Amino acid sequence: MTFDKTQTDLVTSETEADPLGLRELIERARVVLWDFDGPICRLFAGHSAEQVAAGLVEWLEGRGPAGLLTEAERNSPDPQVVLRAVDRRQPGSDLVAEVEERLARAELRAAASAMPTAYADPLIRTWTAVGARLAVITNNSPLVVSTYLTGRGLLGCFAPHIYGRTKDLRHLKPDPHGLNSALTAMSAAPSDALLIGDAVSDHEAARRAGVAFLGYARNERKAELLREAGARVVVRSLNQVLRHLRK
Ligand SMILES: [Mg+2]
Repeated sequence: MTFDKTQTDLVTSETEADPLGLRELIERARVVLWDFDGPICRLFAGHSAEQVAAGLVEWLEGRGPAGLLTEAERNSPDPQVVLRAVDRRQPGSDLVAEVEERLARAELRAAASAMPTAYADPLIRTWTAVGARLAVITNNSPLVVSTYLTGRGLLGCFAPHIYGRTKDLRHLKPDPHGLNSALTAMSAAPSDALLIGDAVSDHEAARRAGVAFLGYARNERKAELLREAGARVVVRSLNQVLRHLRK
């Protein structure tokens, strides 16, 4: 049983009852939808997301109305939390648009020092070589994704199917809009597709789109969050996926 070793790498208890979970996910996927930050790279690896969030908060304190953000939002290490908070309080405002633009610029600067996720590049190339069609569904700016993928020589594996943040923030994951857009554009059924993601919002978006989900977690804390959200198969290394694909 070549499965035994792999099984020990899987972090969900469900997979013990269903050791074929990963293999089934891989074999059924004709269309592979990737979240960007996490499964493909660590966008803020050399460029702290916390600093970006703090920069947005500082800028808002000079520009936005007083008391726009709660204490928890002001201290959030995640710039997406700050953006969405502003959007909730002032949806469709110029202020939201400005925060979004500032975040997109910070993401673009971060793209230059993003850390490729281990085994992501060969997995992307191998999946493309065996005939799967790939797309990116991300809450980051789509320009950042195409810039990063161009730098890795991987843009051709995805283009034109990159679905990122637009001015309409209601469409961010966990909303399934990006997944649905990709499936429509690729003339694919949800049952043909698999989403690889590292966040609970990815799992939720996949569930709402009727798409299978493969969790990627670079640490046990993230794996636990995905498992608690109901993810049945979570891998700690994309090499586990690559090994199956190469069989
Ligand atoms: Mg992510």
